[in-house]
Amino acid sequence: MPSQGSDFAHPSVRALLDSHGLRPRKSLGQNFLVDPVALSRIVAAAELSPDDIVLEIGPGPGGLTERLLEQAGRVVAVELDANMVALLREQLGNDPRLRIVEGDILKQDPGALLALRVPADNSPHPNYKVVANLPYYITSAVIRHLTEAALRPACAVFTVQREVAARIVAKPGQMSLLAVSVQLYGEPRIVARVPAGAFYPRPKVDSAVVRIRFYPALPLSGDELARFFRVVRAGFGQRRKQIHNALAAGLALPDAVVREALEQGGIDARRRAETLEIDEWVRLCRALAA
Ligand code: SAM
Repeated sequence: MPSQGSDFAHPSVRALLDSHGLRPRKSLGQNFLVDPVALSRIVAAAELSPDDIVLEIGPGPGGLTERLLEQAGRVVAVELDANMVALLREQLGNDPRLRIVEGDILKQDPGALLALRVPADNSPHPNYKVVANLPYYITSAVIRHLTEAALRPACAVFTVQREVAARIVAKPGQMSLLAVSVQLYGEPRIVARVPAGAFYPRPKVDSAVVRIRFYPALPLSGDELARFFRVVRAGFGQRRKQIHNALAAGLALPDAVVREALEQGGIDARRRAETLEIDEWVRLCRALAA
């Protein structure tokens, strides 16, 4: 959890909150980005143009929102904390290109929020981009929510704890359910590091900015996706076990059935879930369905 250490370098956000009788809420992961260099790097990572519409998740008092509005055509900002929504409306509410929505991002449908149509070929919308400085505890859920929605972004820029960023971009050998959940849909890269001192209040750990460029097409259809994640979850359910044992236990299947599917997928049954590549999970999922 973030510590509430003092931060005298960036008095303006603190003064703004103080003047409204507000304090950052730990329970909502409220560590606000106050360092101008870090803010500029995040905005640059999104590679915005005036044609773009940004979904900003958790705008807080609006430091990032203000900069996004300088480069994007429109920003839709979804914030859970009613006090922050009021503050943001006071700060930036006059800009007609900004829509502020009070609510939980996990309960919002991106297509309805942005009033954008899903492209006919179901590819990501080229002008829809996500920018978010996320509380660590909702990172996985948010990524899943965005990737499973009908309207999918072309790219997403997430500022997350450094350790979470490393897990997202992990390579085979160190894969996790989170890495597979992201890398099935797109290519993630760490594009900047953000020191703890860039936030008010200062958290205990450093952060990093991850940009995910989403692939135009998915290797699996909608129906296959649910099965895919059942298989992957089973594989990582007992990650220290060999993959055939983890799958047999997690999917309640006979070992012989699992071993046959692994053989069909060209995967050694003695490997562990963290070593499998995305293509191998896809092949395995298909072999198990056959
Ligand atoms: N974007 C601001 C910045 O960079 O300074 C604030 C980032 S702060 C780490 C995370 C923000 O997300 C907070 O304002 C918090 O209230 C908001 N938040 C937390 N959970 C949320 C949710 N489920 N939906 C929308 N906003 C949420």
